[in-house]
Amino acid sequence: MSRNLCRTNCDNCGSEHIRLTGEIRPITRNDAGVYFDEFEGMLVAPAMCRVCAAKYLAWVDQRPCVNPIHRDRAIYCSEDAAFFDLSYRSSFDDEPRDDDIPYVVVAHNTGQIVETIGDGMVVVNIIETIMLRQA
Ligand SMILES: [Zn+2]
Repeated sequence: MSRNLCRTNCDNCGSEHIRLTGEIRPITRNDAGVYFDEFEGMLVAPAMCRVCAAKYLAWVDQRPCVNPIHRDRAIYCSEDAAFFDLSYRSSFDDEPRDDDIPYVVVAHNTGQIVETIGDGMVVVNIIETIMLRQA
């Protein structure tokens, strides 16, 4: 059992599309429960998978956001790049609670469409289909 998932993509469906859904802020007792003292001061933000709506708490590192010329002025990071790890939000753990996973993955397929469009030019589209069922 671990607090973090050691990943930045979705643990439920594998999608890379995790979006921060709220403000970056210091972790609270409400987030971390009995582990608060160990993690006090860590920056976090609520996050959600755009594909399957799994709920996470993103572990945010704002060090790369410091403006190298004007160190007193932070650079705003893109929402998608601002975190380096995830926990399930309501459990603060690598195991979800029920409300962290609104949909379970029933089937996950990856296929390709290859199209030749001219002299040595080929377009390959990777198609990913993820079938979800309400949890
Ligand atoms: Zn997902």
